[in-house]
Amino acid sequence: MKIAVCVSHVPDTATKIKIADDSKTIDPNGVTYIINPYDEFAVEEALKTKEKFGGEVVVISVGSESNKESIKKALAMGVDRGILLKDDNPRDSFGVAKVLAEEIKNEQCEIVFFGKQSVDYDNSITGQLTAELLGYQCISVVVDLKFEGEKVIAEREIEGGREVVESRLPVVITAQKGLNEPRYASLKGIMAAKKKVIEEKPAAGSKPTVEILKMHKPPAKQPGRILGTDSSVVPELVRLLREEAKVI
Ligand SMILES: Cc1cc2nc3c(=O)[nH]c(=O)nc-3n(C[C@H](O)[C@H](O)[C@H](O)COP(=O)(O)OP(=O)(O)OC[C@H]3O[C@@H](n4cnc5c(N)ncnc54)[C@H](O)[C@@H]3O)c2cc1C
Repeated sequence: MKIAVCVSHVPDTATKIKIADDSKTIDPNGVTYIINPYDEFAVEEALKTKEKFGGEVVVISVGSESNKESIKKALAMGVDRGILLKDDNPRDSFGVAKVLAEEIKNEQCEIVFFGKQSVDYDNSITGQLTAELLGYQCISVVVDLKFEGEKVIAEREIEGGREVVESRLPVVITAQKGLNEPRYASLKGIMAAKKKVIEEKPAAGSKPTVEILKMHKPPAKQPGRILGTDSSVVPELVRLLREEAKVI
C-alpha cells in the first residue's frame, strides 16, 4: 500500500507574528518554524497504517528550502522518504493542492493524509481540494480511522458529538487532534533520517485564485475600568453593560 502525507512548515504557535512592511506577508525575521501541529497527527496515522498493512509512506511538502526541516521531522518519526516541491513564493491553497495532486498521482498513492488545518493561513481546504483534483473520496476532521479491505470507516468530530462514516479507497483523510498520540522522534529515528532521501523538484507555476490584499492585527483591547469597590456602583455597572458594552 502506498501512502502519502502532506505537511506544511508553519511559524511556531509561540512566536510573536509581525506583519511585514508590504502589509500582505508575515515578517520572517525572528520567526521559528515547525511542522504544522495537525500534520503530526497525519504523519502518525500514516505510520500506523503502514505498520498494519505494509507498504511505503512518502512525505510531501510545497514551499522553500526551509520546508526540509518539517520533512526531516516526519522522516525522523519513521516516514520512508521525502519530496520537496520547491517554490520560494507563497501560493494560495489551490496552487498548493494542484502540485500536490500531480505528485500524488505520479506516486500512485491510494491513501493520503493531511492535517485538518495549517495554523498559518488557516484555510482548512488543501486536503479537500487535492481530493477533488485527484477524484478521490475525502473524509475531513477525522478522530478515528479503520481500513477493512477497500472500505474506510472513520469517525468525524462534529459540533457536540461524533459522526461515523464509511467510504472507500482511494481516499484523502484530514486529521484532527485526538486521532492518535504522535510519537516522538527517537535518537535512532533522527540518525536514520539523515540517510533518507529528500527528492527536490520545482513546483509547477500556478496563477493565484485568491489574492491577499492586506493583513492586519485586531484592534488593541481597551484597558479595563474599575467603577468602585462597593454595591453602590451596581446601577452604573448595569447601565454600562447595557449601553456601552451592549452585552445585556
Ligand atoms: C510566512 C509564510 C511563508 C510562506 N512561504 C511559502 C513559500 O516560499 N512557498 C510556498 O509554496 N508556500 C509558502 N507559504 C505557504 C505555505 O507553505 C502553506 O501552503 C500555506 O500557509 C498553507 O495554508 P492553507 O491555509 O492554505 O492550508 P490549509 O488548507 O489550512 O492546510 C490543510 C492541510 O494541507 C496540507 N498543506 C497545507 N499547505 C501545504 C504545503 N505547502 N505543502 C504540503 N502540504 C500542505 C497540510 O496537511 C495541512 O494540514 C508560506 C506561508 C507563510 C505563512
